[in-house]
Amino acid sequence: MQDPTSPSPERPTFADVARAAERIAGAAHRTPVLTSRTADAITGARLFFKAENLQRGGAFKFRGAYNAISALPEAVRARGVIAFSSGNHAQAIALASRLLGVPATIVMPHDAPAVKVTATRGYGAEVVSYDRYTEDREALGREIAAARGLSLIPPYDHREVIAGQGTLALELIEETGSLDMLVACLGGGGQLAGCALAAAECAPDCRVVGVEPEAGNDGQQSFRAGRIVTIPVPRTIADGAQSTYLGQLTFPIIAERVDDIVTVTDAELVETMRFFAARMKLVVEPTGCLAAAAVLHGRLDVRGKRVGVVISGGNVDLATFARLVGEGA
Ligand SMILES: *Cc1c(COP(=O)(O)O)cnc(C)c1O
Repeated sequence: MQDPTSPSPERPTFADVARAAERIAGAAHRTPVLTSRTADAITGARLFFKAENLQRGGAFKFRGAYNAISALPEAVRARGVIAFSSGNHAQAIALASRLLGVPATIVMPHDAPAVKVTATRGYGAEVVSYDRYTEDREALGREIAAARGLSLIPPYDHREVIAGQGTLALELIEETGSLDMLVACLGGGGQLAGCALAAAECAPDCRVVGVEPEAGNDGQQSFRAGRIVTIPVPRTIADGAQSTYLGQLTFPIIAERVDDIVTVTDAELVETMRFFAARMKLVVEPTGCLAAAAVLHGRLDVRGKRVGVVISGGNVDLATFARLVGEGA
């Protein structure tokens, strides 16, 4: 593992986030920042929800995907891109590729939510399936990339992907002004690392916190151990945060710039989905609820603070949404 203190040439900086904001302007939505008196009353905080469930492709991943493909030299881009993903990154790459006129191949787990597979195909990408419990998607992705001359765009461990994700925090802070805390959802760390880079520059006093599913707390373990800890594929309804290790690029940024990593249970994610549906009229997928679940369920000391909360995505099968939101109603 690389020394977290020595900057690597691939490691993004705030300048990359600023450049990403220029590249995605006009292509990505500047998503709304929502507030809720009920959420404020529950927590005693002033909460600002960045609604990336309303982003193109239904998740913040469009930012990193569009930025990464845009950053490729013309001739490289024309040969096509390939991505491996449990869903939202795939959809984002497929959509961004279509908008930029680039052919896309997506390696997806066979048990990915049907809505995500269908959407990815709908954007015109070729989908290659694999078994997430027995096959190595990275190896498969690299094999196909090499054989077909495609550029592999990983879901989080990539300078331009991290920089693109950071633009959501840039927009949020531009809109809210100073924040005491920014709470992000954590899978492989692209969102958290990007947001941490943006916050360090635009709101230096803002604490930055990541939230993981309790069953998949590799990020929390890594943060505490000071090295990347790998775990088996976690079983959680947060399918966008089933990554088993932080990245070589995301980890050092998180180790350096993030203040804490906390976890929430699947039951808390479901309750938060219900809160968003009932109170804020929002469809949010389980993974998209991570940050809000930590805030609403007392995992963080937010009383009296101005807190940015990332709602990271809204891609959930309607049947699953209805079942989860209907539970105990
Ligand atoms: C990918 C994803 C995450 C996790 O993002 P990382 O950059 O992998 O940490 C969180 N929420 C949603 C909806 C996602 O699609």
